[in-house]
Amino acid sequence: MTATAPHEEQLWSRCAGCASLLYRKRLRRNLDVCPECGEHARLGAPERLRQLVDPGSLRLLPDLLPEADPLDFVDVLPYSHRLTGARASTGLAEGVVCATATIGGHPVALAVMDFRFLGGSLGCAVGELITRAAERALDDRTPLVLVTASGGARMQEGALSLMQMATVSQAIAALREAGLLTVSVLTDPTYGGVAASFATNTDLVLAESGARMGFAGPRVIRQITGRALPEGFQTADFLLRHGQVDMVVQRRSLRGRLVALLAATRAGRPARPPVPRQEPASHRERLADDGLALARPAVEGDAGTPGAGDTPAVRDAWDTVRMARHPGRPTTLDYLDSVFDGFVELHGDRLGADCPAIVGGVARLAGRHVMVIGHQKGHTTAELVARNFGMASPAGHRKALRLMRLAARLGLPVVTLVDTPGADPGVSAEEQGQAAAIAENILTLTVLPTPVLAVITGEGGSGGALALAVADRVLMLENAVYSVISPEGCAAILWPDRSAAPQAARALRLTAPDLRRLGVVDEVVSEPTSAAHDDPAETAHRLRAALLANLLPLLDVPPAMLVRLRRQRFRRFGANRAGARAGLR
Ligand SMILES: [Zn+2]
Repeated sequence: MTATAPHEEQLWSRCAGCASLLYRKRLRRNLDVCPECGEHARLGAPERLRQLVDPGSLRLLPDLLPEADPLDFVDVLPYSHRLTGARASTGLAEGVVCATATIGGHPVALAVMDFRFLGGSLGCAVGELITRAAERALDDRTPLVLVTASGGARMQEGALSLMQMATVSQAIAALREAGLLTVSVLTDPTYGGVAASFATNTDLVLAESGARMGFAGPRVIRQITGRALPEGFQTADFLLRHGQVDMVVQRRSLRGRLVALLAATRAGRPARPPVPRQEPASHRERLADDGLALARPAVEGDAGTPGAGDTPAVRDAWDTVRMARHPGRPTTLDYLDSVFDGFVELHGDRLGADCPAIVGGVARLAGRHVMVIGHQKGHTTAELVARNFGMASPAGHRKALRLMRLAARLGLPVVTLVDTPGADPGVSAEEQGQAAAIAENILTLTVLPTPVLAVITGEGGSGGALALAVADRVLMLENAVYSVISPEGCAAILWPDRSAAPQAARALRLTAPDLRRLGVVDEVVSEPTSAAHDDPAETAHRLRAALLANLLPLLDVPPAMLVRLRRQRFRRFGANRAGARAGLR
């Protein structure tokens, strides 16, 4: 077979669906949909914008951000080389193009992802640009339209890319509060951290015909379950059948549908900004019913909560990963017994299930009432199996959501204990909307009007961890890990094979001291010299002291200010990337 001559490549294109050889101009006239089989070819962001917006209305938003490689990440190629290559091949500055425009005469802000740019991955710059587009919508009081195409969070930016799920979600939450419409258009493919945040926590979710969307990718699900996947799994029609999208839309109808939706919602839009929410009494007043002194105590075990200046012993990242996964490590139920008093467990998502991988309920911390929610693993194989290894189902995330909202209504602070390899990546989890369940938790936490304190106690695995970890203060036990992807998963994608997991663990900067330097974590709670599982009582003592020291100051902060400060906390991961790099050696 002879190679195709260059001019033929430009003139002709082979359909990925039916393998027909198609005349490119004809294909383009047909919006890159195969006239033979209806296959929707992937579109770059510029072409997508051209198809959607009114001619002459497009105004690109600035896309220049400081250069960032916050982790100095190197796999087989340095990250900076991958970025340069992506820019050269796409002509884009980053994996998203943001703009204002009109669609059928309706002004909107748009963010359109481009899968050609490093798989449309969500890094700090992409998160920052989408957040700015959302803020532009808020300023202009227009709807926000997101077109997603992404493999998920960008591994090369580690936990900082995970934080972008929260940053963009809080911008979506601000539009929700302001009564402004948010629409996402899922295009093929939309996975991982993008699926589990702004692709699904918008008011309306449209799926382009043939688009696939899910929390876990099909390859991962097949590997883990060892089962063949159902026909049409995670496709737009599957998503519609399982109640996860509003509609499936052919590309030729997409613009028209958007126009109709924008027109309908514009009619009902309030003419004036909504009334600011009422400021309830501070949580300290509500909680000061136990007669204990509420002044910040001279905390027992101050030594157990090293500040910024302390230098914990250096341990190889891979050893820390193994320590974090140690079966003897205290679980959430162990801490509920040793750190808290009077735990009363609350069950159920009120929609048909109770997930054993998440436990939650009311408890007391040094006499103060709190809502505690955490992942539950186990020490024995039987316990681990019964708890699904701490991998929460959508029902688990919805139970957590119910308890967070209940806590806010009752004026209880929320304490979360994070210990999960990741959210459940099974077939039924996808059918029940894992991505949207995680996305809604993240969004809700960004605006929850009560103090939220999160502790990474063991494994902080990706979106499943973040679903409980958007907090005012994030603490991390010394030998815990927190990462955008497991080292094994990262190695399988970026290195020749999984045996590179130890190198991946180092590159991902997933240890507590690294994350403290990056600002993802506010405080490292030191473990006994021997590690948590060798001295659970001492670990509990130190954790309790750290929880109290961090929770008490939050009780004085009025709810609206708490939410504002929490937003700033997550917003800075996009804005101050250069600063984050300076802190890391
Ligand atoms: Zn075709």
